[in-house]
Amino acid sequence: MKIQIESLQDDFLGQLITPNDPGYDAGRQVWNGEIQRHPSLIARCHGTADVAAAVRFCRDAAHDFTVRGGGHAVAGHAVADGAVLIDLSAMTGTYVDPAARTITAQGGCLNEHVDRESQKHGLGMTGGFVSHTGIGGLVLGGGIGHLMRKFGLSIDALVSCEVVTADGSIVTASAEENPDLFWGLRGGGGNFGIVTNFTFALQPLGPTIYGGLMLWPAAEAPSVLATMRDFLAEAPDEVGIVGNLRLAPPLPIVPEEFHGKPVVGLVATYVGDVSEGERAFAPITQLGNPLVTGYRPQPYVAIQKIVNAAVPHGRHYYWKSHKIGEFNNQVITTLCDHLEKITSPMSSVPIFNFGGAVGRVPEDATAFPHRDAACDINIVGSWLPEQAGDAERHKAWVRGLFDDLAPNSRGVYVNFTSDDAADRVKAAYTAEQWARLTTLKSAFDPDNVFRHNANIPPG
Ligand code: FAD
Repeated sequence: MKIQIESLQDDFLGQLITPNDPGYDAGRQVWNGEIQRHPSLIARCHGTADVAAAVRFCRDAAHDFTVRGGGHAVAGHAVADGAVLIDLSAMTGTYVDPAARTITAQGGCLNEHVDRESQKHGLGMTGGFVSHTGIGGLVLGGGIGHLMRKFGLSIDALVSCEVVTADGSIVTASAEENPDLFWGLRGGGGNFGIVTNFTFALQPLGPTIYGGLMLWPAAEAPSVLATMRDFLAEAPDEVGIVGNLRLAPPLPIVPEEFHGKPVVGLVATYVGDVSEGERAFAPITQLGNPLVTGYRPQPYVAIQKIVNAAVPHGRHYYWKSHKIGEFNNQVITTLCDHLEKITSPMSSVPIFNFGGAVGRVPEDATAFPHRDAACDINIVGSWLPEQAGDAERHKAWVRGLFDDLAPNSRGVYVNFTSDDAADRVKAAYTAEQWARLTTLKSAFDPDNVFRHNANIPPG
């Protein structure tokens, strides 16, 4: 359907890109290359006023629309066929107030924008594990990252949001203003409006911290994973660990005879003095016969990019995920069994360990449930675009591990839902949270215009 953009043009400073314009094909791409959809218009916003104008334009003309932050939702929520794409990707400005220790970041920022600017002042906050992920979707779903055991989730640092609501108004959400909306934005995703500015509290961090990557052969995976669990049970909040199971990539740091062989990795961070970090991680660095020993003092921003190359834009991805209540021996055995059956050298199984500050925030304070879970396990299937014929085989491996982990599941992190049915989104919340979220949705978006997301319907 051809769209009449004249009424928007007069009230829009950014770029309006139609299907015939240069830049349209690049502009409709999201992180997951398997998603190929064709919006009717890309409205690349310059600032809050453009976002408000775009929402009003869509409402007045009854156009379906999507919202794009960093474009990383694996299900491709940021783009839909025939819909207007309200694109925040040019809204990446930040402002750090070093005295107040806050950062205000526009809604299209990526993790790397927030980290780069706050680290200039020796400050930081919990951002995601991959620097090219958008903070828009990441924060609104909760925000898990290397620093969470010390600083809590990204939402725990959130001070206020500037929000464009379903009728195109601009409101503030904070503990003082619109507190109900502020509660829902901290875990309820993009269901209530478009956040054009986030303000976060920052903490002293680095810039150099102790951490990095270690890898062990699959034969040692059971003991590495059990040690990780037991170590974390006693570890201080400063310690963060992400486990990862995959086939070893053909990198110079990995001994050649292990290229393409199953391995287990642990990415470590220590938020504090580097020599204390080195001491704290001794039980891990002395473990077994590692293939890669990369723990050392290094910039936090470098650690935050360790995984980047493993999850590039444009490859095809399919994932399913569980929050795991208890990381018991059954979970470890299941993971190790399925590591041996992995079908693609690009697939992986990251294990994001909770604990520390995450679990100390009361469950009803935000819309992020199961803060006492042990970890989140994301099963990431990945293959090259030219291997699309193999997609079903790789997806079957993802589903197989997902099904076998189900007995230990404690719901799901909403940002790791994918093509799941609507009841999977419901499983991302407690019954109390779901009731409160659907009531909030009725108040702020009764027509469900913000529906291309992990959708919470009006109650
Ligand atoms: P988009 O696809 O642009 O947006 C996702 C959803 O959020 C859409 O529904 C969109 O409409 C909405 N949205 C985006 N921005 C806004 C905004 N400003 N206002 C309102 N709604 C908005 N999650 C973690 O917590 N920690 C991680 O370490 C982590 N690592 C990841 C690594 C990779 C490689 C990928 C692909 C994902 C990762 N995730 C992680 C999951 C991530 O949080 C979600 O995919 C999230 O949706 C990404 O946000 P985005 O803005 O990039 O995505």
